[in-house]
Amino acid sequence: MSCLIALKNVTKRYGEIVALNNVSLEVIKGEILAIIGPNGSGKTTMLRIMAGIEKPNNGEIYFNGTRVHDRNIDMIRSRSTMIFQKTVFFNTTVYKNLAYGLKLRGYSKKEIKEKVREALRIVKLEGYESRLIKKLSGGEQQRLSLARALILNTELILLDEPTTNLDPYNVAMIEEIICNINRNFNTTIIIATHNMFQAKRLGNKVIFLLNGEVVEVGKADKMFEDPQDKRTKSFIRGEMIY
Ligand code: ADP
Ligand code: MG
Repeated sequence: MSCLIALKNVTKRYGEIVALNNVSLEVIKGEILAIIGPNGSGKTTMLRIMAGIEKPNNGEIYFNGTRVHDRNIDMIRSRSTMIFQKTVFFNTTVYKNLAYGLKLRGYSKKEIKEKVREALRIVKLEGYESRLIKKLSGGEQQRLSLARALILNTELILLDEPTTNLDPYNVAMIEEIICNINRNFNTTIIIATHNMFQAKRLGNKVIFLLNGEVVEVGKADKMFEDPQDKRTKSFIRGEMIY
């Protein structure tokens, strides 16, 4: 069990606000980690730091055992993909959006066509090649962003509340696709969600954040059945936390 990404005593401030306070965490290769916590608890900040988009004020980040610095930050950026609630695509077809990154990497037309077809199959968008982005629904766009991550052989997918604005049918479909990607490609997946049921359905491991601090980390089943901290207990019950 090797560690893909680790945070050691990471603190992130925005002016007076402490978004993350001395957070340490190890993410094992191939696991699905769910970050839960109410709005403002620091979930997005944590994802942005792990994606190499944001720099902490204090603390260290390790990727595959190597300390991340300004000089090698591309190591994280090139091997991870962050998926937001809304992804920005080129205003053209599904095919062109997926082919773009492969073209840059020098793949042949035939290889690109095959890879695009396979990625679309996995995200249940088979045959969507010539569809226009702007005609896709929100759920289809989320699935397309997963296809784009897949096509680039991403090792780490970071999802920020990916199903917040979707209907239950699309939520279920995206959750299934996330599990399939994890199982078939051993992709490490980190998903931030304020929905504890989603965390329970998807997470191997769960981390509960509150006011920028880690309250509890553990196996999903265990944390939901037998939370150790009374604040976790309250959150799971849907109560206010003081
Ligand atoms: P979550 O995703 O759990 O809702 P965030 O990571 O977005 O939490 O935010 C954590 C805290 O940091 C909040 O108090 C938020 O207002 C603050 N914050 C986040 N991003 C910024 C920013 N760019 N500038 C100032 N404050 C920010
Ligand atoms: Mg957020």
